Amino acid sequence: MTKIKLLFTCPHNGTQHTDKVRVIGDLPNTCIRSEFSIVNDIGTEDLTERIITHIHRLSGKDPYKQIAKVDREYVDHNREGPCAFEESDLRAQTAYEEYHKGILQIIEEILPQNENGIAFLFDIHGTDNVEVKGNFIEVIIGTDKGNSRQSLTEISPDYFWGPHGLIPLLKKNGIRVFPRNESEEIAGFELDGGYTIQTYGSSQPRKGLVAIQIEVNRSIRGGMYCREKFAADIADCIWSFVYPFI
Ligand SMILES: [Zn+2]
Repeated sequence: MTKIKLLFTCPHNGTQHTDKVRVIGDLPNTCIRSEFSIVNDIGTEDLTERIITHIHRLSGKDPYKQIAKVDREYVDHNREGPCAFEESDLRAQTAYEEYHKGILQIIEEILPQNENGIAFLFDIHGTDNVEVKGNFIEVIIGTDKGNSRQSLTEISPDYFWGPHGLIPLLKKNGIRVFPRNESEEIAGFELDGGYTIQTYGSSQPRKGLVAIQIEVNRSIRGGMYCREKFAADIADCIWSFVYPFI
């Protein structure tokens, strides 16, 4: 089956255990303590698979995926190494390194060759937050203040917030999304992008990757029916957003 230059990552819904549950007191001083959590994002692996199925339906092609196998109690795949697992837990370290090595291998495949090309990564998460800055939300879109989508901005400065931009398309589908406009995006906010999109997004030397974090509220990912409907809706939006470029 033909592949497309689209990668979905899902770091926080693994089920395997390794040797030592992470403890906040063991974090090195360089780690941000407010970001520490050992709680999985329930339903996000299933949601990611459903989105991929719908992208296949729409495009006739297969996106790439990297789905974490180990529970967040043991590994936080969306943190930098020293903050991601207990130092003494070698099985956790191996799982973490394999996850990120896999992402890098896929990026090597999808990021061409052709230096002007771009590719897309969507990092799928769950949040319990129901509001951001006083606004009720169902979805939070993170671009690290616009930095992780820089390569798209360079090709087409108005595309992300134009009629085929991801957030305008979500809004048109009746989904409550934050940020609602570019100034809210650039100002930054909680959950506007973590380690994965900062590391692989277009602010980094490997400039062609557009990396976007998607946080989905529990209300639309908790139940199977809602999850399937949301997966179909967001896959439509993602496909309309990316297809001119891939
Ligand atoms: Zn998460």
